[in-house]
Amino acid sequence: MFDKILIANRGEIALRILRACQEMGIKTVTVHSQADAEAKYVALSDESVCIGPAPSNLSYLNTQAIISAAEVTDAQAIHPGYGFLSENADFAERVENSGFAFIGPRSETIRLMGDKVSAKEAMKNAGVPCVPGSDGALTDEPSEILATAQKIGYPIIIKASGGGGGRGMRVVHTEAALLNSVAMTKNEAQTTFGNPVVYMEKFLENPRHIEFQVLADQHNNVIHLWDRDCSLQRRHQKIIEEAPAPGVPERQKNKLAIRCADACKKINYVGAGTFEFLYENDEFYFIEMNTRLQVEHPVTESITSVDIVQEQIKAAFGEKLSFRQKDIDINGHSIECRINAEDPYKFTPSPGIINRFHLPGGPGIRVDTHAYGGYKVPAHYDSMIGKIIASGSTREQAIARMRIALSEIVIEGIKTNIPLHIDLMNDLAFKNGGVSIHYLENKLGIKS
Ligand code: ADP
Repeated sequence: MFDKILIANRGEIALRILRACQEMGIKTVTVHSQADAEAKYVALSDESVCIGPAPSNLSYLNTQAIISAAEVTDAQAIHPGYGFLSENADFAERVENSGFAFIGPRSETIRLMGDKVSAKEAMKNAGVPCVPGSDGALTDEPSEILATAQKIGYPIIIKASGGGGGRGMRVVHTEAALLNSVAMTKNEAQTTFGNPVVYMEKFLENPRHIEFQVLADQHNNVIHLWDRDCSLQRRHQKIIEEAPAPGVPERQKNKLAIRCADACKKINYVGAGTFEFLYENDEFYFIEMNTRLQVEHPVTESITSVDIVQEQIKAAFGEKLSFRQKDIDINGHSIECRINAEDPYKFTPSPGIINRFHLPGGPGIRVDTHAYGGYKVPAHYDSMIGKIIASGSTREQAIARMRIALSEIVIEGIKTNIPLHIDLMNDLAFKNGGVSIHYLENKLGIKS
């Protein structure tokens, strides 16, 4: 096994990876910006390297500084976590070319799946159901664009092939608006992602977001760890996730999960990955694959008892998966609430010092956070400061435990979205299960 791993991330996920390494007897190197010098995981790691000032483009996105940190500390592998450089194929390639193991899929796989047109093509070829849409990228020919939209039927959505983070998409309801919308999305795609390629899909009006977790080793063994429902979103950002997705027939999920695992075999996938689908009128439609660890991985860990981070590390080292598909059973239900340092209803960030801090506990409660009493939430990064994961033998029990945990937690000095989570745990539609991706914004009276 690796002797030493460098963790190229910050916050709760840096701590999560650190714990996995410690459990496996692997030494750890953390890298941090000047703003994170006091972080708990920095103190807990065996070694740490300051890689630059607070802004992430000068630190957590500074490829050269991260690779130099791995060189001076003799780390053998780099875990990118999520966000930052985790889905950057050029970074993965540089890591590989510098003689380190990248804990994730090969750079060419990241490149293939990072381009949504090529990802969709690969998935179609692997028999994964996709949203009906244009055959690859849109051409510049107005008559072809108009004909494609007419064939798909309005409303449609124009999406940037290089897009991400919920940006680079435009919904079109009428033919009159089509050509202008395509031109605008192309322009935006060029400015934001440096790639003007766009494609067209049927716009699904009221879908749920359901995704499937997969794990693959370098010996072409692939398993799936079932599904998660992440429909509670605001501006395409998930805030509550659960596993398994309520109310979807297990046979239907099983069939698709096996398709996803087979698709991984076809593209020689290695490591952890997630197939994201929209689910509407009892049908699944692939939208994209995330080639990294997800924020919401703990709900899957909870229902399957698989440590996804440890499996990622083993796969990167070349070990075989510790499980076969027949070893994976679903046990109970698990829900995650993302705790953000922000106003619960206006969503304005609320950085600053946490002066009182008490965590919940009890049966079925897991808390992943790097925060502590006296911790200063920096203004420079994502507002998520931790996650509460509540699990039980039924969905009702998981919700009840989450409600208790949310009533116990104390975070003072900054605002958090805990009041919103408390509201949602008492929301009738949420309690019934299966709300669509628009439910939260509609409930809050906001337009996306
Ligand atoms: P990103 O990489 O930016 O996250 P995705 O392709 O995953 O982009 O889409 C993000 C979100 O946009 C989805 O979760 C969904 O809310 C919405 N979306 C994307 N494609 C469609 C579609 N064809 N119909 C309806 N909504 C869509």
